[in-house]
Amino acid sequence: MRPRAAANQLTKVLRLALPPEQWFPVRPLVIAREFGVLVEEDDLGPTFEGALLQANGRCAIVINSRIREDGRRSFTAGHELGHYSLHRDRPELRCSLDDLLDVAPHPVNIEQEANEFAMTLLMPADDVRAQIAARPPSIALVRELSERYGTSLVSTALRVRELSAGALCLVYVASGRVKWCWPTSRFQWRAARGAPWPLQQLSSLEGEPFPTLTAFGPEAHARVGAQLIVSAADMPHYDANLWMLVTRDPRRPWEWGEVDAELG
Ligand SMILES: [Zn+2]
Repeated sequence: MRPRAAANQLTKVLRLALPPEQWFPVRPLVIAREFGVLVEEDDLGPTFEGALLQANGRCAIVINSRIREDGRRSFTAGHELGHYSLHRDRPELRCSLDDLLDVAPHPVNIEQEANEFAMTLLMPADDVRAQIAARPPSIALVRELSERYGTSLVSTALRVRELSAGALCLVYVASGRVKWCWPTSRFQWRAARGAPWPLQQLSSLEGEPFPTLTAFGPEAHARVGAQLIVSAADMPHYDANLWMLVTRDPRRPWEWGEVDAELG
């Protein structure tokens, strides 16, 4: 079964079993115990976040006791539950932080599948869409939703981006440089990986209008319009910030060809 379908099937069962006020946050480890999986916290060292182990016909999910943030722990638990649901024919799976950050849009390996399962289970599409329908997207909204779902800021932001119909872009900046930049299909510009981030000195914005030209230069200006609504959050543990850029440029996709021609 595909990861999203497997997670959605589990969501249906949970909603039949629980009253609506207990639907969120979803607790993957409680679900795992219901399946008869042993759940343990153990020191897995600095490399691994979680593991799915098997012996004598039993499965165990181990979560690294070094993880401090609840959101990261919960996502790791969802990821391991994903391995249990989708990949327990494999002998033993140990998952690093890189595995847990592997959220490229087209899943090609089991780590991406487990992440897709975790995202879908912890933040079901119908509920996220209902939450974001009435409000303009911003990091403040992402923060609110991360509390609702018990998820990390970054994984919540990725889910909001995935389910947003609007033109927006997420940028993760570490030590002042762009680590990744992930626009929706309607946002026609992206910051180069490794480039210095021009708004670094601001570190935290609550959805303020920003002149695109001054901050990001003529190409961004031509592609996404004169003004960007910018919000951001500091992640001091990681010396990083998460940014959201939203454009209100009303151009339709077929008009971007002209911009491309103009920019040569
Ligand atoms: Zn994994």
